[in-house]
Amino acid sequence: MDFDDTREEAEFRAEARAWLEAHTTLRQPDDAPEPGMGDEASQDLVARAKDWQGIKADSGWACITWPEEFGGRGASAIQNVIWNQEEGRYRTPPNIFTIGQGMLGPTIMAHGSPTQKERYLKKMLRGEEVWCQLFSEPSAGSDLAGLRTRAVRDGDDWIVNGQKIWTTGAHYSDYGMLLTRTDPGAPKHAGITYFIVDMSSPGIDIRPIRQINGATGFNEVFFSDVRIPDGNRVGAENDGWRGAITTLMNERAAIGGGGAGLGIKELIQLLRTTPYGDGVALDDDGIRQKLADFHARSTGLQYTGYRTLTALSRGQTPGPESSIGKLVGAPLRQEMAAFALEVLGAAGTITGGDLAMEHGAWQRMYLTMPGLRLAGGTDEILRNIIAERVLGLPAEVRVDKDKPFSEIPH
Ligand SMILES: Cc1cc2nc3c(=O)[nH]c(=O)nc-3n(C[C@H](O)[C@H](O)[C@H](O)COP(=O)(O)OP(=O)(O)OC[C@H]3O[C@@H](n4cnc5c(N)ncnc54)[C@H](O)[C@@H]3O)c2cc1C
Repeated sequence: MDFDDTREEAEFRAEARAWLEAHTTLRQPDDAPEPGMGDEASQDLVARAKDWQGIKADSGWACITWPEEFGGRGASAIQNVIWNQEEGRYRTPPNIFTIGQGMLGPTIMAHGSPTQKERYLKKMLRGEEVWCQLFSEPSAGSDLAGLRTRAVRDGDDWIVNGQKIWTTGAHYSDYGMLLTRTDPGAPKHAGITYFIVDMSSPGIDIRPIRQINGATGFNEVFFSDVRIPDGNRVGAENDGWRGAITTLMNERAAIGGGGAGLGIKELIQLLRTTPYGDGVALDDDGIRQKLADFHARSTGLQYTGYRTLTALSRGQTPGPESSIGKLVGAPLRQEMAAFALEVLGAAGTITGGDLAMEHGAWQRMYLTMPGLRLAGGTDEILRNIIAERVLGLPAEVRVDKDKPFSEIPH
């Protein structure tokens, strides 16, 4: 494990830091929601996020790992980590572009037509057009290949009917990447087709869902006879699972190890200032014991992260340790938030106004982490992946894998 930047990495970090230092006029108020999980429904937040993205794009700091032909700077994975670390030091507007730029853009690059790449990627990079991911359905989440939204060919168009759910940002998105069932007679992975859909198309009905953290970050999206031109098909007919895999591989990397926000340092600070008995919470032996447990786990996670960084820095592909980040990080942060609220006692119930500790950030984290434990692969699915692909344990029984989709009971 190597903790230091190489000379090139240090130079890159200094360049990034200098640019950020000169362009931080767009800091947002301290009570802004957690990136990706907050109430991005607010038009003000969307506008500020677009402004910030445009400023970055003008200076070549948007989507830095993208190839230069699509507006990126062909940066390495380690440079991207450095950039994210540096940008993370500033309170920039929530990143509403992660799904497009981190997951869907790479899918278009890998499977899209030259016309699609030309038409969509540069505007995606600049944040001029926002994208959403129309994959999950009420009965197809972990088992995504069980999706039932139908697309039927009609001349040069496809006609789509069905329902998607948990679609983050559908309410402020211009385009979506959509998975549909096009051949119900084929086994479930083999009859799926991938499309780009204009979210303003007639027949699309977007209904926001309120989450337990109070935000309306995601939606139900209904399709009633929605027409999509065949030119918007990504990849071959019935070969959409290939594109879906590309999106999902990029999703794990984009969601990463638990997101920004409060950590062990902030918890210690809270315990140091919270009255408890005759002193402050940090004086209490029981509390210190719990803190030591959190500290051990956070440190384990931090060093596991360094192993990933070391691999990236040496130009290697990170090993299985990179899949542990979300599985350990999200529950840990949920537990730390629950503990903070317990120590705060009655004050822990105050989420807004001047009286709320840290502007209600601990409360928001407590109510946001359960969602992160589901999004992009639930804890159980991540454990299955580690069991099967890392530890080599026997695979789950999958009885419907080779059956025609239309014969699978539902
Ligand atoms: C905040 C948030 C944002 C999201 N954004 C999007 C988005 O933008 N676009 C999109 O398409 N989707 C999105 N999702 C949906 C997300 O991908 C799904 O919630 C996730 O894949 C789980 O699917 P599900 O909710 O249908 O649960 P299910 O798959 O029904 O799972 C229910 C429970 O069963 C368990 N389970 C399921 N299968 C197995 C198994 N084989 N072995 C053991 N346990 C199992 C799960 O772990 C879970 O506890 C989002 C979800 C969240 C929470």
